[in-house]
Amino acid sequence: MTNRRNPAAWNPVAWTLIALAAACGGAERKADMMVDIGGGVRAIPAERLAAKRARYADVRIGVDEAGVTAEDRAVLADLVRAAEVMTRLFWKQASATGLATREGLASLAPQLAGPARAHAEALLDYVDLNAGPWDRLDGDEPFVGTAAKPAGGTFYPPDLTREAFEAWLAAHPEDRERFESPFTVIRWAPATDPAAPRRLVDLPYSEAHRKDLEEAAAHLRSAASKTRDPVLAKYLRGRADAFRTNDYFQSDMDWMDLGTAPADVASSIEVVIGPYEVYEDGLAGLKAAFEAFVTVRDDAESRKLAAVAGMLDELEAALPLDDRHKNFSRGKASPISVVNVVFAAGDAAKGVQTTAFNLPNDERVRTAKGSKKVMLKNVGRAKFDNSLVPIARTVLDPALLPRVDFEAYFNDILMHEVSHGLGPGVITSPDGTKRTVNLALRDTYSHIEEAKADVVGVWSILHLAKKGFFPAGIVERTEATYLAGIFRSVRFGVEEAHGKANIMEFNYLRKQGAFTYDAATGRFGVDHDRFEPAIRALAHDLLVIEAEGDLAAAQGFIATYGTMPPEVADALARLAHVPVDIKPQYTWK
Ligand code: ZN
Repeated sequence: MTNRRNPAAWNPVAWTLIALAAACGGAERKADMMVDIGGGVRAIPAERLAAKRARYADVRIGVDEAGVTAEDRAVLADLVRAAEVMTRLFWKQASATGLATREGLASLAPQLAGPARAHAEALLDYVDLNAGPWDRLDGDEPFVGTAAKPAGGTFYPPDLTREAFEAWLAAHPEDRERFESPFTVIRWAPATDPAAPRRLVDLPYSEAHRKDLEEAAAHLRSAASKTRDPVLAKYLRGRADAFRTNDYFQSDMDWMDLGTAPADVASSIEVVIGPYEVYEDGLAGLKAAFEAFVTVRDDAESRKLAAVAGMLDELEAALPLDDRHKNFSRGKASPISVVNVVFAAGDAAKGVQTTAFNLPNDERVRTAKGSKKVMLKNVGRAKFDNSLVPIARTVLDPALLPRVDFEAYFNDILMHEVSHGLGPGVITSPDGTKRTVNLALRDTYSHIEEAKADVVGVWSILHLAKKGFFPAGIVERTEATYLAGIFRSVRFGVEEAHGKANIMEFNYLRKQGAFTYDAATGRFGVDHDRFEPAIRALAHDLLVIEAEGDLAAAQGFIATYGTMPPEVADALARLAHVPVDIKPQYTWK
């Protein structure tokens, strides 16, 4: 799974455009708002395109290649080539026309001149960003041509509806497992008798995309032959085999072991490549899209995480919670790996950028080996610079700005992830029956658990700071950075779990006086003396709700603290100029 927030829920540019259209008497259809850019191609006007594109800040993403061994650089070169194939495959999965639209624009642009040429080139750039001519931030509205994005991509026949697919599965239970596989496409069987009813068949990815997958596999085998790291080589060869056999299980298992080779041969490369997430399948949410993250481990952060992992019992003991509720047996939490992205491709490179992912998705692997969380530090840094800092400049007391820094921001994210593994997990009722916290709290669980992870994360940072684990000043920097981060999270709305969690934290801490508001300037601040006691109280209240599995208390907490106060809404309205996301340009040659 990826941590992709949906920024469309709070999209100032879109709302401005909708308002403008309405003001112009606009029951106009979108097709009428398009212009001819030449060659019979219709697209949105240049000004409208510029407003859409401005929501993405251009950033350079890469690693310091001097810090990568010559051996790893040679391996990375092959992996980037394999990853590029994933981009081509992903475009083919997303629609049958995306690549042709791209090629049409690419050949049209050089035939044009002046503003028309610039317009065509800008469209090409935006098609690349969205992996097709549909705007992923604006509900997939077309910006070149007027055809709607196919809900099921090319995973299914274009004329197959969800209802027809489900009816087929109900009538043909023997097909269900193959048809619901993440790694098959569904097609109409070629008609032999035109009078007979049409028949659906499945085709494994290994056949539907054989040529592309063979090309990617050759690059993976070449990479495997260049590394001395046996664990990495095993994953790459296994994944190359999976592209041919369509069986991804063993290479998913092997992926969990990356980074465990003996130090004298260990590669610092962390790579994942293949079909994983199913979000692109808007028809049934079954089919996996091709993607790749080619990354290098961040040594300093990995050491920090290893140290924290050795202190989990201490952090559990430090929770502001009655000892009888503490939980020292949650055992091996899922490993966390901190990396810097060299190159991302396919599903991983379109639209809004991922800052972390948790794989594999195969439940058999998760049961046998757990899953691994991979955090993309340089992507996080780019989002911090281009989003969090401008937000802080707009809404925070200016005296706090020097304390908003990336180290504190990344610590917050890391400790949030670690904190999901702290506190109650399984509750024992007075009659001895056991149930998990998430079952007990039902639909309130994700809101309460995300808030708990944030606040226990901050609490743990305060605890570790006292032990000298972090450099001086980390507490003041954490206070300011955490407050700015709340505005970043609630910017996309407070209905989704992270947004709801953040507004609850804000309201609780504001009530306790830890966060302050100056109505004259419309800016927010921190009361240092009240911060730690308020965090303690909030962590305690959330942990007790989980420990007791108290659904009514969870509902009450959300009702009390889960709505956006007017002063926060006012502050958010001033953020229209802040980019929604980043558009990476990879520096790898
Ligand atoms: Zn979380």
